[in-house]
Amino acid sequence: MSQPAARAAWLREALERASHEYYVLDRPSLSDAEYDALFRELAALEQAHPELRTADSPTLRVGADVGASHLAKYAHLVPMGSLSNAFSDEELEDWAASGREIAGEDFDRSGFCCELKIDGAAISLTYRDGVLATGATRGNGAVGEDVTANVRTIRDIPLRLAGSGWPPLIEIRGEVYMTFEGFERMNAERAKAGEPVFANPRNSAAGALRQKDPAITARRPLRFFGYAYAVPGVASLPFATQWDLLETLASWGIPVAPHRQRCASLAEVHGWAHALEKTHRAALAFAIDGGVVKVNTLATQAELGSTAGGREPRWAIARKFAPDVAETRLVNIEIQVGRTGVLTPRAVLDPVEIGGTTVTYATLHNFDLIAEKDLRIGDIVQVKRAGEVIPQVLGPVPEKRDAAAPPAPFEAPTRCPECGTPVVRAEGEVAVRCPNDRCPARHLEELIHFTARGAMDIRGLSEQRVHQLLEAGLISDPATLYDLSEDVLAALPRLGEKSAQQLVAAIAASKGQPLSRLLFGLGIPDVGEETAKLLARRFGTMEALREAPAEEIEAIHGVGPSIAESVSGWFRSPENRALVKALATRGVNMTEPERAEAEGALLGMKVVITGTLPSLGRSEAKELVERAGGKVTDSVSKNTDFLVCGADAGSKLDKARALGVAVIDEAELLRRIGR
Ligand code: NAD
Repeated sequence: MSQPAARAAWLREALERASHEYYVLDRPSLSDAEYDALFRELAALEQAHPELRTADSPTLRVGADVGASHLAKYAHLVPMGSLSNAFSDEELEDWAASGREIAGEDFDRSGFCCELKIDGAAISLTYRDGVLATGATRGNGAVGEDVTANVRTIRDIPLRLAGSGWPPLIEIRGEVYMTFEGFERMNAERAKAGEPVFANPRNSAAGALRQKDPAITARRPLRFFGYAYAVPGVASLPFATQWDLLETLASWGIPVAPHRQRCASLAEVHGWAHALEKTHRAALAFAIDGGVVKVNTLATQAELGSTAGGREPRWAIARKFAPDVAETRLVNIEIQVGRTGVLTPRAVLDPVEIGGTTVTYATLHNFDLIAEKDLRIGDIVQVKRAGEVIPQVLGPVPEKRDAAAPPAPFEAPTRCPECGTPVVRAEGEVAVRCPNDRCPARHLEELIHFTARGAMDIRGLSEQRVHQLLEAGLISDPATLYDLSEDVLAALPRLGEKSAQQLVAAIAASKGQPLSRLLFGLGIPDVGEETAKLLARRFGTMEALREAPAEEIEAIHGVGPSIAESVSGWFRSPENRALVKALATRGVNMTEPERAEAEGALLGMKVVITGTLPSLGRSEAKELVERAGGKVTDSVSKNTDFLVCGADAGSKLDKARALGVAVIDEAELLRRIGR
């Protein structure tokens, strides 16, 4: 094989493998910048040696095949494409020059429509007569995976289009994404449960979207933005520009991303792209990996068409940012002990500037990852920063390791760095824990968590202050916070009389927080904010929950057996029972107020349930309806307000249709009752 041929074959294989990891496994091993560099090298080789281009080259294909997927397949009515990239103003000018060769002056007659390039997972939503019929991933562009049940759980996606004027059959395209906050929260929960964490919001959104169980997708904080639509067999749409298309989507109730702009010239486009990279990007709550520049006139878009193989439209291009990756030295690996005892490694770096901020710390997730990447203290490492996400260490740069005197491999700790207790690791778990309930590091974290915003929300009690109070021996566990007096606090350094008064008042005010916040604040393993609410709503009082058998807890929709076991296990511990008692003695509220909004949601309504619902059992569905004030009856009549319909429904569905009674699915029921 010639040298270019061998290189092309190697590149094809490397790109193929990376695509599989990225699209199918949601676990990339290359950074996007590395992938893009290899892709461009292959494209350049194929251009110089067209004979090397194979029919299945990654440069001609979109995404990855879904043949091996566990989900049903869906053939898109209109194929889904990808986008070509411009990494600089010059590359954007080149793109425009080739466009003008085909479309002449029409190319920029009505300028460009500039949009955010949302870094999520592409999705196509099919609406029939305005009702959401299917949601499918892009797959290889022609065939994707059917993720309808999962898509229905995403609140941003309307089940029925609003407004009017939508064609009877339409595929709306857009991006399912996760906010940074949702992503961090989900990864923190996964790390705590010993599950592998996702590399970035894109992978976690794609992973959540492709779950087998829609109940899991429903728990993930997924969002949606639309940016295109296609009508099978119809070439021209009833408006003239991409800009109008976006406005129309918005009028149908489809969320459209902010910071879109009409630009009359390429010079304006460059200005928009720079402002996006330097200013807007940092303020966004979600990840973008650039902007998308589209020829505004739809008729010109049609004239320009797509590149060979249909992979990329000629009328749009991704204006990507320079990757936020930098190299620096790994100075140390610090180990933090969390409130559940999990030991988390953190990289301490030689401060380095990435994308406008100085990065000194980066996440390392867990010790397996350090071993897998063979990261050693003293190595030169690549660090990536994407928007607001905590910077990550991608890996060492092996060429920069001193071959004569390489640093020693990193050894995972066998003892807790705070209290010296030998660490434990449950079978099949990634997380390493300090099992000592009285470990001082755990105490601090426990108290910080108890006072935090989602928990008891004690304003003015900063982490440093908790640290100071612990060091001074004034507090030991959450109950002792309520014994603090103004005099004692005012005597502390850096805390005046007024602040002491405010702090005591804030601590006292927290006694009235509802049970759900208290439960979350107690830091019961696996009980996050949502689970705490479910528990508090179901049992109403601390006492009822404390005495509940695990089976009763497990019966709550959204609470699995492992959480149930964790909760009952927590209450079995004499120390924990004593803590709850101590809190109650100090007047901390132990009840959950009735939820007004859920109560009223179905007040006085008559509801019938039929068929097998995707995630709720019949009695659970009934209980939910009743708790929202509705009444479940057995048969459909003209007085029925709506029928909740699952799979294999029979005569009740026919009757509802005959009587014109509204029919909804489980997802819609959950929406109506505010779940
Ligand atoms: P892409 O993500 O670069 O661009 C196309 C996609 O952008 C569209 O399919 C659409 O989903 C999305 N998009 C977001 N906002 C949009 C908007 N406003 N208008 C139109 N489209 C919008 O291309 P791709 O084909 O999805 O993936 C290729 C890219 O994925 C590569 O450039 C690389 O960065 C990454 N990748 C990485 C690896 C890896 O191993 N790290 C592997 C494969 C792909």
